[in-house]
Amino acid sequence: MAIEIPRELLPVDGRFGCGPSKVRPAQIEALAAAGSSLLGTSHRQPPVKNLVGSVRERLATLFRLPDGYEILLGNGGSTAFWDAAAFGLIEHRSQNLVFGEFGGKFAKAAAAPWLEAPDVRKAEPGSLSTAEVTDGVDVYAWPHNETSTGVAAPVQRIAADGALTVIDATSAAGGIDFDVTQADVYYFAPQKNLGSDGGLWLAAVSPAAIERIERIAASGRYIPEFLSLKNVVDNSRLNQTLNTPALSTLHLLDSQLEWILSNGGLNWAGARTTESSGLLYDWAEKSKAATPFVTDAAQRSPVVATIDFDDSVDAAAVAKTLRANGIVDTEPYRKLGRNQLRIATFVSIEPDDVRQLIRVIDYVLTQRG
Ligand SMILES: *Cc1c(COP(=O)(O)O)cnc(C)c1O
Repeated sequence: MAIEIPRELLPVDGRFGCGPSKVRPAQIEALAAAGSSLLGTSHRQPPVKNLVGSVRERLATLFRLPDGYEILLGNGGSTAFWDAAAFGLIEHRSQNLVFGEFGGKFAKAAAAPWLEAPDVRKAEPGSLSTAEVTDGVDVYAWPHNETSTGVAAPVQRIAADGALTVIDATSAAGGIDFDVTQADVYYFAPQKNLGSDGGLWLAAVSPAAIERIERIAASGRYIPEFLSLKNVVDNSRLNQTLNTPALSTLHLLDSQLEWILSNGGLNWAGARTTESSGLLYDWAEKSKAATPFVTDAAQRSPVVATIDFDDSVDAAAVAKTLRANGIVDTEPYRKLGRNQLRIATFVSIEPDDVRQLIRVIDYVLTQRG
């Protein structure tokens, strides 16, 4: 029997998914207003090139980029970046911290036949592994936020001579404050906290990373055109991509960056996601049936809250009831296999909507059985 949730309990916006995630209505209106002066026009002409330039400038401002750092962008999302990194960023061997699905996917891409097998440092989902300076490793890589488990890791440079620190910020970028000088490559796709659509990857890169990219490109290693980071550097500097980008993705991203910056930037965004996720963690700590999945409070993600339930609750049935009432994508990461809800608390999501969601979950828990 379907539970009907009273209207006064419902959040204004029912999108709590971790990606693709909520796109604010104002962004969609802005895209519609840009309309025929942008969509359906050449990506080699000023309307699109200026848009790419604006995205790059706003990201540079948001991340407080020091001199010499640059914003790169290429097609194919973060998944394409992993392959591009195997071809053009890892010189001999990477060390990959794996504490969930996404860290694991980069480790797989780094297991390329022309490289030494990656040094994989694994930890159980819900916890964290740490990097260790190791001879022969020239890339240290881990996710800023492991979206599959809701664990956030520090962004802190590994002090190994000549090695690069490479951070997957796909779900963290623009939602967790950090010091960009602690990374050489801080890469992400915009369909998560940055409230845009998929298909693109972007990165803030250090001078050392640019030097590495140029050196490997000149080394004679075979690199496919589409995955060439040297190509990305050259095109990004011209505010363009090798092949056609999704113009709507760029526009939605640009308006999201404008919105975050006008509200106070990374500092504001980080405080807002911390407030939203804190509501859920506090609720779960006090709840009889629920508990935060990540036991170490310092490792709990501010942008992806994972909440476990005891055997008295069928979390999948709760997520199904929420979905039937217009609250979508609260299911856990499909391969994690836990009795859990996973709730995005990205910057676009109103803290008041998280408060309402908690009321809704409480209501569903009292109604069942
Ligand atoms: C979603 C996600 C990815 C994959 O992004 P795509 O753009 O779909 O390739 C990679 N890493 C993390 C941490 C993610 O959350």
